[in-house]
Amino acid sequence: AAAASEASAALARTVAHRAAEAAATTDALTGLPNRRYFQEYVALLDRGRRADDTIGILMIDVDRFKLLNDRHGHAVGDVVLRAVARTIAATVRDVDLPARYGGEEFVVLLRDPSRQVALEVGERIREAVARIDLGAVGVEQVTVSVGATVGSGGAERVDDLVGAADRALYRAKRFGRNRVEAA
Ligand code: GH3
Ligand code: MG
Ligand code: MG
Repeated sequence: AAAASEASAALARTVAHRAAEAAATTDALTGLPNRRYFQEYVALLDRGRRADDTIGILMIDVDRFKLLNDRHGHAVGDVVLRAVARTIAATVRDVDLPARYGGEEFVVLLRDPSRQVALEVGERIREAVARIDLGAVGVEQVTVSVGATVGSGGAERVDDLVGAADRALYRAKRFGRNRVEAA
């Protein structure tokens, strides 16, 4: 009996440890990797990257999300964020890394995309989000703006690419939202 209770205590510690590990790397609301995980991944990638290993970044921000929260309530806002996260994850390839970057902001790291492919993936995400059926929570439509950038080889740091994608995202906002802009 003592051995069994020792074993189950060990199991409980293992489960708690795994849960804590998952919580440290996963966003609780959406289940996507969180910003911290994304940044650790990027730091490792920057260290080991070869000169011909091209990286693309998509920054994705939900349009007029504050208004949606104000109109429909925070709980509906959360449902929308989960649906957007699911759509982004379903739209990118397995080698790409989507993450929740902040409140209503997402990032996708693309492996070896051409500029054309990065724009196409951004456009696919934009279209897929605009098609999400949110009738069940009384929301007519949700849209995102996307900033896309592709590095020119292994020379640039991923952080700088994120900055460039962020500036492209702000242009997409300024030009009317629900659109993709390239850096
Ligand atoms: P824009 O089109 O320029 O992006 O406008 P916006 O309203 O989307 O941008 P703004 O940054 O003004 O508002 C973002 C809102 O996102 C404000 C914040 O309350 C909300 N938000 C952030 N995190 C969460 C969350 O986890 N759940 C919900 N429901 N809302 C969130
Ligand atoms: Mg927004
Ligand atoms: Mg935002």
